[in-house]
Amino acid sequence: MTKKKTKFTENYIPIKNSLKIYYGKIKWRKKMDILDELIFTVLTQNTSDINAEKSFGNLKLVYKNWEEIIISSNPKLEKTIRSGGLAKQKSERIKKILSEIHIRLGTFDLSILKTMSYGEVKNWLISLPGVGPKTTAVVMSFALQLPAFPVDTHIHRISKRLGFIKNKTSAEKAHIIMEKLVPPQDKFYFHILLITHGRKICKAINPKCSLCPISLYCPSANL
Ligand code: SF4
Repeated sequence: MTKKKTKFTENYIPIKNSLKIYYGKIKWRKKMDILDELIFTVLTQNTSDINAEKSFGNLKLVYKNWEEIIISSNPKLEKTIRSGGLAKQKSERIKKILSEIHIRLGTFDLSILKTMSYGEVKNWLISLPGVGPKTTAVVMSFALQLPAFPVDTHIHRISKRLGFIKNKTSAEKAHIIMEKLVPPQDKFYFHILLITHGRKICKAINPKCSLCPISLYCPSANL
């Protein structure tokens, strides 16, 4: 355990710096309102950002406000978001989340989260129905600029390959480990660096190790 931590600490800085030099300034999607980010992140589950953006765009086009979604028929909502897949599960999840928020606050305005401590925000979000560690961390990081570290499929895979986490470490557990290991000031940028690396080079199938700027530090490099 101690050995892994030492290895990470030794490699973290050169890995971060090499990725930073290689990818430079990364253009990322625009910052969203807190509830928009939460619902968008639900729509990203098990699909690409492009499909989720399409689903979210349709959602905003078809429904004028969040109340309308809660009282919408299931088939209408499912049809609206179907481009992102798993429409039935996501529709139910979205309705439950919105209803729970309204029960708790009497409003859909989540700006109260800005007045809470890091731990309070985390507990508040993760206790919403169907909201797990990744969705919680995305909302905290992207919409509230808090130092959370979301672990998506790219980050989970690369973290294993780089030896940051063990092969058997679940994505849930990886959140706890990575959040402790990555310094607060680096969390957002390192997150988008790893996602970019996963999309471009360290792909799930046939990673392009011969082109990889961090192969020197990677125990899984296949050169
Ligand atoms: S060397 Fe290969 S496995 Fe390691 S990070 Fe680079 S692309 Fe991924």
